[in-house]
Amino acid sequence: MKLKKILIVEDEGIVALDLQDRLEQLGYEVCGIADTAKIALKMAAKHSPDLVLMDIVLKGERDGISAAKQINELFGIPVVFLTAYADEKTLARAKKSHPHGYIVKPFNAQMLRSNIEMALHRHEVDQALDACYSTTLASIGDAVISFDHEGKIRYLNAMAEALSGWKAKEAVKRNLSDVFVLINSGINKDESINPLTLLDTQTLLSLPHGFELQSRFGTLIPITLNIIPIKSKDEDVQNEAGIIIFSDKREHLVNERQSKMAEKLFDNSIEGIVLTDNELRIQQINRTFTEVTGYEFSEVVGKTPAILQSGQHDDDFYKNMWATLKRTGMWQGQIFNRRKSGEIYPEWLSIYSIKNKNGDVINYIGLFSDLTEKKMTQDHIHQLAHYDALTNLPNRLLFMERLKQSIVMARRKEIPLGLFFIDLDGFKKINDSLGHDAGDLLLQEVALRLKKYMRESDTVCRLGGDEFTIIIDGYSQISDIIIVVNKILKELSAEFKIGERSVYITASIGISIYPDDGCDIQELIKNADTAMYAAKDKGKNRYEFYDYEMNRKTLERLTLESCLHRAYDEQQFMVYYQPKINLIDHSVEGAEALIRWNHPTFGFVPPSQFIPLAEETGMIARMGEWVFRQVCRDLSEWEERGLTGIIVSVNLSAVQFRDPNLVKILDTVITQEGVNVHSLEMEITESMLMNDVKSSIEMMKQLKEMGLSLSIDDFGTGYSSLKYLKQFPVDVLKIDKSFIDEISNNLDDRMIVKAVIDLAHNLGMKVIAEGVEKLEQVEFLLQNGCQKVQGFYFSKAVDANAFYEFVMGNRK
Ligand code: C2E
Ligand code: MG
Ligand code: MG
Repeated sequence: MKLKKILIVEDEGIVALDLQDRLEQLGYEVCGIADTAKIALKMAAKHSPDLVLMDIVLKGERDGISAAKQINELFGIPVVFLTAYADEKTLARAKKSHPHGYIVKPFNAQMLRSNIEMALHRHEVDQALDACYSTTLASIGDAVISFDHEGKIRYLNAMAEALSGWKAKEAVKRNLSDVFVLINSGINKDESINPLTLLDTQTLLSLPHGFELQSRFGTLIPITLNIIPIKSKDEDVQNEAGIIIFSDKREHLVNERQSKMAEKLFDNSIEGIVLTDNELRIQQINRTFTEVTGYEFSEVVGKTPAILQSGQHDDDFYKNMWATLKRTGMWQGQIFNRRKSGEIYPEWLSIYSIKNKNGDVINYIGLFSDLTEKKMTQDHIHQLAHYDALTNLPNRLLFMERLKQSIVMARRKEIPLGLFFIDLDGFKKINDSLGHDAGDLLLQEVALRLKKYMRESDTVCRLGGDEFTIIIDGYSQISDIIIVVNKILKELSAEFKIGERSVYITASIGISIYPDDGCDIQELIKNADTAMYAAKDKGKNRYEFYDYEMNRKTLERLTLESCLHRAYDEQQFMVYYQPKINLIDHSVEGAEALIRWNHPTFGFVPPSQFIPLAEETGMIARMGEWVFRQVCRDLSEWEERGLTGIIVSVNLSAVQFRDPNLVKILDTVITQEGVNVHSLEMEITESMLMNDVKSSIEMMKQLKEMGLSLSIDDFGTGYSSLKYLKQFPVDVLKIDKSFIDEISNNLDDRMIVKAVIDLAHNLGMKVIAEGVEKLEQVEFLLQNGCQKVQGFYFSKAVDANAFYEFVMGNRK
């Protein structure tokens, strides 16, 4: 066994040697003898003795107590005093150096030995305790700094090192406030607080905000802080000191933020959330869960989600679900559940299992969204995208898809395919006269009739407006197609009941055949459309198969459209005047102004071809205003040339009639052209009036207030009711040409004409017949009280100059 090394500090040489002698006899090794404090320190450093025996009174400036203190602090070597003094003062001073023993001279060998042994033993125990403390402190998560009563650092554990940035070696003995730079995050950030002031707990309380430690590198670390003062019970010992325990709050803050966020997400998630324990007992639900299922937390806590089962899934379904969940940790799918109200609803459900470190499932979490609405909107969107809302027939999009499929099938099976393009004749008139609601009802009825004669394999579609298409699949002969199309024409021409009214309508149908008339959808559609226009041209209420000649006409129509735009700028329009004749004296009472388009290459284009086009493109507004202005100018010129006392009527398009600015526009022109308003009349067709009767009457009143005359054009073809007719502030009824045409051979029409004449008179209106071509018509009209006529029998429409000559010649 190694001998214990002892350093002797004694300034009396003989005493020192005697002591050495005695120690060696007791079995210790004396590693040196020092006679001053200074030498003692040097030797302690050099020999690292196990113990120092220290005299108190020494040579030199410093005494043994001061040396002992230093040796203890610097090297941790236990010191036992050996002295002749035992007065209170000396004892008190000695205490402060924390000696391991105090032997008062004279002493015997036993006293010496027992003191030395106790001191050595105590030192070992202290060291073991120290080691125990420091391993503990090194390994705990909190940072620990201990300091002495002077505020000097004694100890720093590893965490304190890490957070402060100071190594224990460097920090020990420094001022606590140098190493532990504390900032109160609530107050002035630039000023640090001396931690020692916090030893007074009151100060700690008065600093309500969090603390931050400013590390050696300047980082501010939010910390939780605990300062524990350690006071010695012995008043004499000035041993006041303390321990600071603090911990890094950053991670905690992050965790706290995360858990707050999770909580928010949980509460506000638009998905329903349910958390169960490992036996599926519900532990937590969120608000959406309650909203979707109708169950409150108190009703479900502790129960299993089986309360939501709808009975729509069999055992296998749930077995599979659990098997998947077990295998993969999650399950996802659509499931039908039952709300508290009993209603069954579809939901999209995801279940996750949550495991602990050992891999045991501790919770299940279920996330679900109610699919009821989504399903509805999805279906709805599909419906909207592919079906026409009014008739529920496939729309243009679906039509194109179906046609494409049908062509593929027809090609594969090598059989022909027919495409019908159906356009209702005169639908616009019905819409204008009976209103859009009636128009809609009619279209619905038409859709039903079209479907009625179709086989499952045929597709009836509505492209929009009054346009329908039918794809006829897999017929064997052209004659079959003709049977179908004739059926459709017949079916459509039968009476329609719209509310109380009977309405009649016909259709024009164009037919193209795959593969003869086209190999792709574009070509087939284009050609069926062309054939449909051909059917219209040939008098409507009929069908036409596509042929190549038709293309030319379509081209014409298209060219027309583009020409129309240039016509206005290039002044290709003219106004012609058709005289209105008084049958009594054959005098010219006035004229109807009729637009003419003289195209440089096409020649005269009839209004029936370009007016609808102008209405579609909106050009009619400018065109109508131009006609009205031209009429005013011609009136002025005629007047200058001595022609007065005639009334010229100008046709108004439905587009103009519905324009709220119409009155202003007409008024401006009249003022600008300086014409007498009483020489002007506006023609409004019967069908224009019946659509929105109220505003029609309002508009007519305004026109009347301006001083304009009003006439109802094409009377008899619209659907005006007598009830309204009485309310219209109208001056003239114009009997439509179609009735006049039939006067000679149709009794019905004769009756109608007669009735209209009487009606006009009864309502205090004038009446005029248009389209009079024959003498017998003139005679019939005269006999029945209609004295005014307009028609080819007397004159076609002629240009302004010719009209002037016509009237002046007539007046001579
Ligand atoms: P509408 O207003 O009913 O005009 C009468 C139409 O019947 C004129 O055709 C006229 O030339 C024609 N007509 C007159 N007497 C006879 C006859 O005895 N036999 C035959 N077969 N026809 C006769 P037009 O000029 O072709 O005009 C057709 C339609 O175009 C007009 O019908 C009117 O609705 C419209 N229209 C013509 N000019 C204008 C215009 O300046 N503005 C507007 N908005 N529409 C116009
Ligand atoms: Mg007219
Ligand atoms: Mg007319």
